[in-house]
Amino acid sequence: MTAMQHVPCALCDSPTAVPWFTGRDRGLGHPGRFFVVRCQRCGLARQSPRPLDLAPYYEGGYPQYTSDLYTWRPWWRRGVPDAVEYSGSGGIQWKLIRRMVPWRSGRILDIGCGNGDLLTILDRAGWEVHGYEPHAPTAMAADHRLCHLGRTVVHSDAAILDAWPAQSFDVITLWHVIEHLPEPLAMMRTVRRLLRPGGLCLIQTPHVAAAEALLLRSYWHGWELPRHLWFFSHTTLQALLERAGLTVWARPVSNSYDIAVLSLGHVARAALGVSLGGRVVHLARSGPVQALARAGFLVLDHAGLGSQLTVVAVRPLDHPAHPGAAPRA
Ligand SMILES: [Zn+2]
Repeated sequence: MTAMQHVPCALCDSPTAVPWFTGRDRGLGHPGRFFVVRCQRCGLARQSPRPLDLAPYYEGGYPQYTSDLYTWRPWWRRGVPDAVEYSGSGGIQWKLIRRMVPWRSGRILDIGCGNGDLLTILDRAGWEVHGYEPHAPTAMAADHRLCHLGRTVVHSDAAILDAWPAQSFDVITLWHVIEHLPEPLAMMRTVRRLLRPGGLCLIQTPHVAAAEALLLRSYWHGWELPRHLWFFSHTTLQALLERAGLTVWARPVSNSYDIAVLSLGHVARAALGVSLGGRVVHLARSGPVQALARAGFLVLDHAGLGSQLTVVAVRPLDHPAHPGAAPRA
């Protein structure tokens, strides 16, 4: 049996919590029961107890991020080389960066950069790109895509985060990363150190107060047990960022349809079996259904009930007497 450890709250250090529910690994199907609790003092939800060694639970890959889920495109755009990158998750992130970051170039670090989709797009757009990806084979593949730059772009050794000098970056992004980190507060303090004053950090993570989470209970994909360790609301994420010395500057809306498809997959596979469940998911991804569903989810997202929490945080200026250098809303 896997050794489990009780963990205190990452936000207020309190060890006390009330049980929320028990779930299982619906993403990769590893055996075992996993426990979600809510901090009695500050309300941050966490997995506790959790497996002492999480590495085995990542074995078998992370298929939802390498499948065609994020790379679906209409037939008239298939075969266009750039379509994959610009319609995939990297493309969605790039659009958010263009919308929220007031600069058109600079030094950017993508923490948990995966296969380097976003870095490739940013490189073409004129940014000086850097990546950190702890999964070594994925990091190597991503680095190879950017080998024309003639330097190591994507690092897989966590020591690099301490090796970079303070204030190295204008922008740092963490897309669906913070919920995986055993020590999210320590990472956000590192992010603060690495950002220049006035620099921006973009974070995206599942939204624990989403309608889908309440409706689908343990089938909601945002739980992603046991790989997700923390489950944030706007309030708890803001409190964590503030404790790390960052200020929430904006909360852009991002469509949560893609998470809904993953949740639907969990429900459909449990109710109809793998084969029929797969067909339901395939239908949900088809062009007309997806177009309609995305519009519906946009309404949900604007009402603050969507499954994605997106936050832009700023490292406050050291000398607030000169606000001219600060980004403006
Ligand atoms: Zn707490």
